[in-house]
Amino acid sequence: MKTELKLEKWTLGKWKREFWKYFSKYIRLRDKGVCITCGARSEAYQAGHCIPAGCCGLALYFNEKNVNGQCYRCNINFGGMGAVYRGKVDEKWGKGTYKELEKIWRQPTIQYTKQDYQRLIADYQLKISLLGDEVSDNTKTGTKVAESATGLNRNARPKNPSS
Ligand SMILES: [Zn+2]
Repeated sequence: MKTELKLEKWTLGKWKREFWKYFSKYIRLRDKGVCITCGARSEAYQAGHCIPAGCCGLALYFNEKNVNGQCYRCNINFGGMGAVYRGKVDEKWGKGTYKELEKIWRQPTIQYTKQDYQRLIADYQLKISLLGDEVSDNTKTGTKVAESATGLNRNARPKNPSS
């Protein structure tokens, strides 16, 4: 089948991005539009990492306690609000949670295979539907906003040749 052939060619990076769509959507539904660090309700609502996505490793990248609903301002403009976030993680998930996350951080990170990603995506599709939402919704909104905010798009503009 055509679709299966296509999936065969996906790299692990592509599978990671695909799973993130569902994982992030689940987190945003679970946390109902309330930002973990400032408490505000936000239209530009994202799933933000406490231990940052860029260095946390896969185990924390997709950890339901390390990732919580966060407003665009806190997640992007204020760089994740790390110090506040650490305290809020303990408030939300119980005292000592941040230390537990740090322990995971110090361990060698796990790796997922394609099959793991496929299984995880199916799990989270179920979790999303149990929260009463359509899986086929626009799951990309959060990540798209985040990508455009990093400045990559601005930097990609051709330089003025006369300067
Ligand atoms: Zn916020």
